Amino acid sequence: MKKILFIDRDGTIIKEDPNNYQIDSIEKLFFYPRVIFFLSRIYEELDYEFVMVTNQDGLGSVNFPENKFWPIHNHIINILKYENIIFSSIHIDKTYIKDNLSTRKPGISMLLSYLDKSIYNIKESFVIGDRLTDIMLAKNLGCKSIWIKGNNNFENFTEEEKKYFYELYKKKLYKTISLKTNKWKDIYEYLKNKNKKIEIYKRNTLETNITISLSLYGNGINNIHTGIGFFDHLIEQISIHSLMDINLYAYGDLHVDEHHTIEDVGIALGNIFRKSLGDKIGIERYGFFILPMDDSLSKVVLDLCGRDQFNWNANFYREKIGDIPTEMFYHFFKSFSSSAKCNLHIISTGNNEHHKIESIFKCFAKAIKMAIQKNHNYILSSKGLL
Ligand SMILES: [Mg+2]
Repeated sequence: MKKILFIDRDGTIIKEDPNNYQIDSIEKLFFYPRVIFFLSRIYEELDYEFVMVTNQDGLGSVNFPENKFWPIHNHIINILKYENIIFSSIHIDKTYIKDNLSTRKPGISMLLSYLDKSIYNIKESFVIGDRLTDIMLAKNLGCKSIWIKGNNNFENFTEEEKKYFYELYKKKLYKTISLKTNKWKDIYEYLKNKNKKIEIYKRNTLETNITISLSLYGNGINNIHTGIGFFDHLIEQISIHSLMDINLYAYGDLHVDEHHTIEDVGIALGNIFRKSLGDKIGIERYGFFILPMDDSLSKVVLDLCGRDQFNWNANFYREKIGDIPTEMFYHFFKSFSSSAKCNLHIISTGNNEHHKIESIFKCFAKAIKMAIQKNHNYILSSKGLL
């Protein structure tokens, strides 16, 4: 079901005129800072339909003729369109407050089609706007709101807004406000975090107990505890350089040795990664990277094809790096490839053993980041299945 962002125009996408005049000439047109950059990211990265809802008091009257409005309005819409910000529909009310019509925000009679629960997920939708009427609109639609508090303060409120201000507290309208901000960056980050899909995976055996949560499209935030210090550091590299958020708690039989813990973390990480990818619609599928670290050079190539194949060409001459036996590096990635069901090729050269393995983990993360990118709505396979 589709989620919607009902976005106000004046004071939200473009700046209001300081003297409260209509924006009817190019000299009066200023975009809200960073709005184009972040709206474009929201449109491309998150799953929302954009709907514009704007009150244009007296549009078509002598004071605000249509021939002054449309050239500027179309100019705004075109600028947004060329930055890949597309509104599926634009609802403009032309009446005054005194007309008291239900088409005018916060009335919803222009928006009734969005209440069809078989098409739209109104509860997960938002109104984004700078006025209390926008907050009221959210309440009337049954969705949440994001309040852009640009230059709003009580002294500048219109009589209509003062009325709604009191309503706001009387009816506890503030409960509909999910975010108050004057920055579009905050709105982007709030919506991105809200849409983060987190998978949780538990794997308990007689040798290890592992719990992992993973968010594919995160911010590289991690919390890693395996009981093996250097291993924690390497898994952190995966999170930081792929931007996947990873929380990992592993309690293994370290009194025996490190083998089971490292192997089982590889299996668990591969499993949750495969589960998080789901049907793989929209992903790039292939990922590759070449990464230097001083004397070392690593290459990682992967294909999230649903078949496991692992090729490893990296020789280590020390028995251990930190507290990890070097033979376990091969084992970790082989375990990941088996459970993630991906082709994974790793090649690394260099003199310093620490640089070599760290560059492999970073390079692996960068290849994953590339392969999971979503730039379309297809499954990239002639079989129609990955
Ligand atoms: Mg506004």
